[in-house]
Order: sequence, then structure tokens, then C-alpha cells
Amino acid sequence: MPHESKVGLNHRNARTEEQKALMAKIEADGVCPFCAEHFKKYHPKPILRETDYWFVTTNMSPYEGTQHHFLLVYKPFHATLPEQVVREAQTDLFASIEWIMKTHHIMGGSFFMRFGDMKYTGSSVEHLHAHLIVGDVDAPDHQPVKVRLG
Ligand SMILES: [Zn+2]
Repeated sequence: MPHESKVGLNHRNARTEEQKALMAKIEADGVCPFCAEHFKKYHPKPILRETDYWFVTTNMSPYEGTQHHFLLVYKPFHATLPEQVVREAQTDLFASIEWIMKTHHIMGGSFFMRFGDMKYTGSSVEHLHAHLIVGDVDAPDHQPVKVRLG
């Protein structure tokens, strides 16, 4: 089976057994799990904020060493490139980051968005989405968070 599927998943980049099992189910259903009409069905975490442009939620498999791991998933349509993001959604993305920071009292973190051909990105889902992570720096055994980005 090829690593990249017709529904925009990259199985090679799945990290946990829970993710792998969910991806197998999505593959069988033949849909993009991050498209708005499917997202709430497949995503096991609560939607914390929903605007016209973004779902704000948490990652079902947070990166090791994170205190917080949020996802911002593009909502208007299936997009894979930043150039497809409508202007209003670009503004709303930063408003959503601000909302996360205020509601979760975040003093510092990191924000990134993979895009395009998953061969280059380390992404497991092609549909455009951003990550906001905060390292659990006060944990006694904290190690720097490692992120696969290319
Ligand atoms: Zn999609």
C-alpha cells in the first residue's frame, strides 16, 4: 500500500496506535477527516472554538513533552496550500491564536503550519491545519519537544 492515500492521509507519519486505527477507518470510508462535514465525526476531542473559518481543538495525540497541543483546522473547504486560505480566514487565524492564549493563559509557545505535498512535510493529514504547542517546561523530566517538519 502506498504511504499517501487518495483521501489525503500519510500513514507513514501517524505516530500512535490510536491514530493508525482511526486512519484505517477513514481510509475505508474514503473521506478527508478534516473537511468540515466529516471533522466532528472523526475527531475525538471537543471543539473548543468554531468560527466561520477555523475549528480550534486539541490534538488527539499530543506531541511528547507538550503541556498544550492545539490544532486549528481550516473550515470553509478542502484546502492544502496557504494561497487557498481566504483573507478573512487569515485574520481569523491570528484571532483564534489570541483566543487560545487568553483562555489558556499561555505565556509562550510555538505555532506552525505544514502545507502541500506531504512528502515534504511530515504531515499525516493533507487538509490545511495549524499547530500551537506549549512545552511542559516545568515538568521535572522535561525534554525539548521534537517536531517532524520535513
Ligand atoms: Zn479536507
